[in-house]
Amino acid sequence: MKRAEEYRESVAALQRTVYYLGQTISDVTAFPATAPHVNAAAEAYAIAFEPEHQDLAVAYSDLCGSPVNRFTYIHKSPEDLVKKVRLLRSLGQRTGTCFQRCAGWDALHTMYILTYEIDRKYGTTYHERYLRFLRYVQENDLMVAAGMTDPKGDRSRPPCQQIDPDLYLRVVSVRHDGIVVRGAKAHQTGGVNAHEVLVLPTTALRQEDRDYAVAFAVPVDTKGLTFVFGRQTNDGRKLEGGEFDTGNPRFGMVGGEALIVFDDVFVPMERVFMLGEFDMAGRGVEVFASTHRQNYGGCKVGVMDCLIGATSLIARYHGVDRASHIRDKLAEMVHLNETLFGCALAAGLQAVKTPSGAYMAHPLLANTVKLNVTRYIYEIARLAHDITGGILATLPSEADFRHPAVGPLVAKYLQTVPGVPPENRFRVIRLIECLTGTAALVEAMHGAGSPQAQKVLLLRQANLAHKEELALKLCGLAP
Ligand code: SF4
Ligand code: FE
Repeated sequence: MKRAEEYRESVAALQRTVYYLGQTISDVTAFPATAPHVNAAAEAYAIAFEPEHQDLAVAYSDLCGSPVNRFTYIHKSPEDLVKKVRLLRSLGQRTGTCFQRCAGWDALHTMYILTYEIDRKYGTTYHERYLRFLRYVQENDLMVAAGMTDPKGDRSRPPCQQIDPDLYLRVVSVRHDGIVVRGAKAHQTGGVNAHEVLVLPTTALRQEDRDYAVAFAVPVDTKGLTFVFGRQTNDGRKLEGGEFDTGNPRFGMVGGEALIVFDDVFVPMERVFMLGEFDMAGRGVEVFASTHRQNYGGCKVGVMDCLIGATSLIARYHGVDRASHIRDKLAEMVHLNETLFGCALAAGLQAVKTPSGAYMAHPLLANTVKLNVTRYIYEIARLAHDITGGILATLPSEADFRHPAVGPLVAKYLQTVPGVPPENRFRVIRLIECLTGTAALVEAMHGAGSPQAQKVLLLRQANLAHKEELALKLCGLAP
């Protein structure tokens, strides 16, 4: 297993092309816009060396015959999927943000299940090939970005009917020793600080979209890959060099997403895990979706623990913590958060065994978790805004607070309860601003798929016919 420092060094050593604000970044571990995300991902390495977290963060791999960081481990029981949620909550609590390693972990898990099922159907040998890759990932404790979401162009058209055929990632040629792919993957969480990208189809496919049915893995420094790092609310503050205006200076806001472009990238056959089996793409999406959606009742719950704590503090700093309506709102926040956690745990306990032997989170419950996240996180944030007050939107900058002339005036007029230094108040307000910022909320809404995608799966899994039968029986009607 890699230590946090070894992770950092290994990422710095990988030369990749990353663009941000019209320039290239040479070292993502040191550049102000990307460094906080590296710090957050590094926590997913550090935790595996802490004795009190061994049970959650380390698992024994049969594949390499040694303990591995759980972020590379394949879930082999419902208990593993419960541990995953508890691990994610714990990391959400210490980073207050997305620590990025789980998306790739879920992709690793999905391809384990999918390659096994493709082989069973088509007599191919992808699973064996995939196990060699997985073992390499486990032995080197690599961080993998999940190349899941294609740009998708005109949403009303399938891949092959797009005005530009590259709007979904596709195979442009097949050679005896490998394939050449072109396209892009969007919203790539942890993309700029991962070691590998594991690409999967983003949607169910038909015969005419066969060229889009492709799964493979490439190292991030592969020729032809370009990363374009996304902007976030207030990201200019990272470049100002202050201590607290970004809110979560050490770990940043959400995952640091990137657009990854694949410009005629060669992939050796050894790294190809699906090639043309279009009818299996939908299964891959379903497994990935359930696996990833369960997570949100872990990581987001941990981040909301930080928000609830910050909100409770600000109520105290403002002298309103004993007001009954404040206590009621805090209780509401806790209730919403624990509801998310409870459902994610249940999705693990009710996990389903797949033919490969790996377990996947219960699809109905996992999608319920994620749909609740799209609502409850907004509601928790609304209550935090309510309690914090308008200062959340009008607080002067750290530079003014530190200015020799105006700083003392800012401190004098923005002081609150005796004994609370104004700077403490400012820091907590900035943290609340960060934890409830646009990117954080949009991540809760659209990360792991938009709400409508969850509703489609909910109805597919709900077995309405059975529910109708129950109702008919009670009414004394024949089925
Ligand atoms: Fe992991 Fe949560 Fe970030 Fe997804 S949003 S990568 S589950 S921390
Ligand atoms: Fe996410």
